[in-house]
Amino acid sequence: MVKNITFHNCDHILSKVFLALDGELSSEEEASFLAEINQCGDCLEKYQIEKSFKDFLSKKVRKECCFETLAQNIKNKLYGNSSS
Ligand SMILES: [Zn+2]
Repeated sequence: MVKNITFHNCDHILSKVFLALDGELSSEEEASFLAEINQCGDCLEKYQIEKSFKDFLSKKVRKECCFETLAQNIKNKLYGNSSS
C-alpha cells in the first residue's frame, strides 16, 4: 500500500509539526509534510492535536486581549507615553 515512504521517522516529523504550525515551512515543504503525515496515523493525530491547541490558544488570546487597549499601547509607543 504505502511504498513510497521507505523510511519514516515520527520524531523527525513531529519537529516539523511546530514549524508547519508556525508557518516556518515553505509551501513546498508544507505540501510534502502534509502528504507524509497523512500516511501515518500517529503523526496526523499529533498534528491535529497541536493544530487545535494552537487555534484554541490564539482564540483565547484574541478574546482576552482587549483590542482598544492594544491600540492604545501602540499609540503610546508611537507618540511616547508622557502621561503616565
Ligand atoms: Zn509517523
